Amino acid sequence: MSRALIYIVEDEPAQVEMLSYNLETEGFRTVIAENGERALLLVEETVPDLIILDWMLPDLSGIEVCRRLRATAETKRLPIIMLTARGEEADRVRGLETGADDYVVKPYSPAEMVARVRALLRRSSPALGDDIMEYAGIAVDPAQHKVTRLGQAIHLGPTEYRLLLTLMERPGRVLSRGQLLDLVWGQEVYVEDRTVDVHIRRLRKALDLAGTKDPIRTIRGTGYALNTDD
Ligand code: CA
Repeated sequence: MSRALIYIVEDEPAQVEMLSYNLETEGFRTVIAENGERALLLVEETVPDLIILDWMLPDLSGIEVCRRLRATAETKRLPIIMLTARGEEADRVRGLETGADDYVVKPYSPAEMVARVRALLRRSSPALGDDIMEYAGIAVDPAQHKVTRLGQAIHLGPTEYRLLLTLMERPGRVLSRGQLLDLVWGQEVYVEDRTVDVHIRRLRKALDLAGTKDPIRTIRGTGYALNTDD
């Protein structure tokens, strides 16, 4: 998916509200876990793109959650930002091998947190950043949700937009219908395989300007890829 998914693991409602409001405003998707156990359950269902993890939680400490995530293959490299209170706690975090990629000391400004999140995401998954992606004259600007081809605005429905983004983030890679369903529609939604074909057809039609080539390759019986042959 193109909009990075962030889990906020924090038990203080005011903190949670401020964080999720600011991150959502910046175009991220957020899911909240009010304690460590819940966070681990959520991660088991869906691994997010990044976790903001408070050190002081009612059950498992942030450090313990972090340790468990690092000990699991699927989440070994999951980007984690640890939140700590000013003072002793911050010093301890600094001195400890926490396994977190970054830490932010409370109180912090929302702008600072957004900047840290962006920086960490850019390091861990460049395609999720705000960088404009360009291919075959098609430019996708994830920050503004804008698509152009040869400078002309292309208007896409939300599904076609996500489909294009998903393909552009993985140029040349063949994605099966099943993979596209997971990435574009999400694993919770039941959609038939041929729905993918319908939306691919719409996407192709929208991108088809005079003098341009079809950017999407069909791999018969399998799926689709962004055509990087020429
Ligand atoms: Ca807390």
